[in-house]
Order: sequence, then structure tokens, then C-alpha cells
Amino acid sequence: MAKSVAIIGAGVSGLTCGVLFAERGFAVRIFAEQVGTKTTSGAAGALWFPYDAEPADKVIPWALATYKVLVDLCDNNPSVLALKLDGFKPSSLQTGVSMIELRQYCRADSIKVPNWAHKLGGVATALPATPEQCEGGRDVGGHNFSDGFSLRVPLMDTTIYVDYLVSRFEKAGGEIKNDVCFEKLEDVDRQFDHAINCAGIGARELARDPDLEPHRGQIAIVPKIDNLDCAIVCDDTTLMYAIPRTNDCVFGGTNDVSDNLDPNPETTKAIVAECSRVLEIESPRVLRERVGLRPFRKSGVRLEKEKLRDGRTVIHNYGHGGSGFTLSWGCAREVLNLSGA
Ligand SMILES: Cc1cc2nc3c(=O)[nH]c(=O)nc-3n(C[C@H](O)[C@H](O)[C@H](O)COP(=O)(O)OP(=O)(O)OC[C@H]3O[C@@H](n4cnc5c(N)ncnc54)[C@H](O)[C@@H]3O)c2cc1C
Repeated sequence: MAKSVAIIGAGVSGLTCGVLFAERGFAVRIFAEQVGTKTTSGAAGALWFPYDAEPADKVIPWALATYKVLVDLCDNNPSVLALKLDGFKPSSLQTGVSMIELRQYCRADSIKVPNWAHKLGGVATALPATPEQCEGGRDVGGHNFSDGFSLRVPLMDTTIYVDYLVSRFEKAGGEIKNDVCFEKLEDVDRQFDHAINCAGIGARELARDPDLEPHRGQIAIVPKIDNLDCAIVCDDTTLMYAIPRTNDCVFGGTNDVSDNLDPNPETTKAIVAECSRVLEIESPRVLRERVGLRPFRKSGVRLEKEKLRDGRTVIHNYGHGGSGFTLSWGCAREVLNLSGA
């Protein structure tokens, strides 16, 4: 009989683990208080880029492993296109993953192209000196910064990608139990052979982990911006990013230690003003605001086995901070290895 797996959490970490285990023939059930777009994962940018997660010596290999998987999932990947031509309905294959040029800037001083970015073709950006040199879209706003580098990275449009993970998981036989809130890890039914903890910031209470810190992020969703075909990011103290997606654009952002999930209208105004200043556009109307708590763990992502008080073993996979999407497939593979499958 197939071995059974219980996963706590239906954000990007739980869903990615769910897909991997279900497609390996495990009987998988995900238990979660909230599912998919309602979780922190639903509030993310979600660009592939290692940010606000530790430790670097583990984060970079997980991120690079994830990069490879995401490249294969791109909607314009030749193998995906070939399947579409074979008569599959495009909507049933849409993943929401695409490659985009990321332009990473700073406002003062200089920025070094990280070693890992060289491997992915990252290059220093020649900054345009004037607004006129930015015309045509490619260098939009670049002259507002002091230095930058660019590379092509996967972008996961959460409005499509999260549902894609849910349907791929269910297609492989997985089940999701919604509105379930566990008080402790021992609440998982003993019938399961494996238990995996992907509770994000919820692991603070669930695993009694005081090392977890909520790094609150607020974003504003605005209509598509003309001529913006690359993602612009500046992670100086005033975090700023503009990420064009299939049907809209994400403006960000913030990163403060706070548990407050209510959008602050003044913060939204400031985000829209700064992004509009950089992009040199009139402030667009705001379609939606979102807040999410990045599950930052001071001692680093927790990806390990732990013996519970009742003798059972749980595999923890949480604490991905601002990189949950970027690390998702690399971490899920390591969970699979830890399970001994
Ligand atoms: C504004 C913002 C922008 C971001 N941008 C990016 C980006 O560009 N790229 C990137 O890689 N990352 C980004 N992130 C970070 C990323 O969103 C997180 O790292 C990621 O969502 C964490 O996913 P997770 O599945 O571990 O946790 P979550 O998405 O928080 O999911 C946790 C799950 O566990 C469930 N749960 C929790 N406690 C319990 C319990 N006791 N019982 C049952 N269920 C429980 C929840 O209901 C939920 O289903 C961003 C985050 C924010 C807020």
C-alpha cells in the first residue's frame, strides 16, 4: 500500500512538497487553516530572487535548484508549447511562470553582481544618465539609481501559479483539508507514515519556535503599466519594486517586524508614490492591497527532522523569509530525501 503523508500548510512550501510526494506515488493529505492565494504566499511578488533568508550557503543551492525547475515550467517553454499543439487545452497547462529581466538597483554607492548571479548570466547594468535615454521601456527609470545589475529570472504570477500547484497536486491524487488549525504537531493523526511542517509564520506557535520573526510586507496591485516589461527592484532601506504580471502590476513594498495584517492606507500611498516616481508615470489607481508576513527565521530556514514527544518524527520545512518561492523546489526535494523516499 502507498505510504501516507500529512502536510501542514497550503502555501507555496506545502503545495510544492505535496506535488513532489503525490507524483512519487504517496497518498498525501494537506491540512491547512488557509489555502493558496489566501496565505502569505498569495501576497508575494513572487520573483525568483534570494532575499531575506538565511543561511546563504544553503539558500543559494536551494535557490539554484528551484531556478532549474521553474525554467522548465515556463508557459513559453518549448515542451509546454509542444503539448499545447498536441491538443491540450492551454488553460489546463498554464503555469503562470515566465522568464523576465530583473533589474536590481541601489540608490547610493555601487552594487556588486553576486557570484551566483554570474552563473545565470547576471551582468552589471550601464545606467542611462537622463530620462530621455530610458525611453522605449528597457531602461525605464534606471537614471534614478546609482548602480545596478540585471539577469533573467523566473516570475511566478501568484494569481495563476498557486492554483496551478493546487490542481497539479489534486491531479496526482492529493487531497486538501481546509479550515484545519492544529494547536500542536502531535495533533496530526497517527495513521500517517510521515508528517511535514510547512506552516510558515504559523510554525512560531505550532513548533513553539521563538526564532521566527514576522517580516511584514505590504504591496499594492495596480493595472498593467505601459512599456514596463522588466521587473525593477531596489532593496535599499526604502524597499521599492515594480513587477509586471500577466494582467496587472505589483508595486512594493515594505519589510518591518510586525504581526499586523491590516493594509495601512498611508503606506500604500507611499509605495505608489515611490514606484511612480521611479517609473516616471502618473500614480495609477490601486486595484487591491495585500499584506503578508514573511516567515523569517533568525537561525536560518528550518529543514530538518525532529522527534516529537509522542515518539513520531516530523520534517520541518519553514522559515523561508522573503524567498519562499525562490527556494520552494530545492527545499521540497530535500524534504523528500529526508523522508528516505
Ligand atoms: C509582500 C511580499 C512579497 C514577497 N515576495 C517574494 C518574492 O518575490 N519571491 C519569493 O521567493 N518570496 C517572496 N515572498 C516571501 C514568500 O511569500 C514566503 O516566503 C512564502 O510565502 C512562505 O510560504 P510558506 O508556504 O512557507 O508559508 P505560507 O504561505 O504562510 O503558508 C503557511 C500555511 O500554513 C498554514 N498554517 C499555519 N499554521 C497552521 C496551523 N497551526 N494549523 C494548520 N495550518 C496552519 C497556513 O494557513 C498556510 O496554509 C514575499 C512575501 C511578501 C509578504
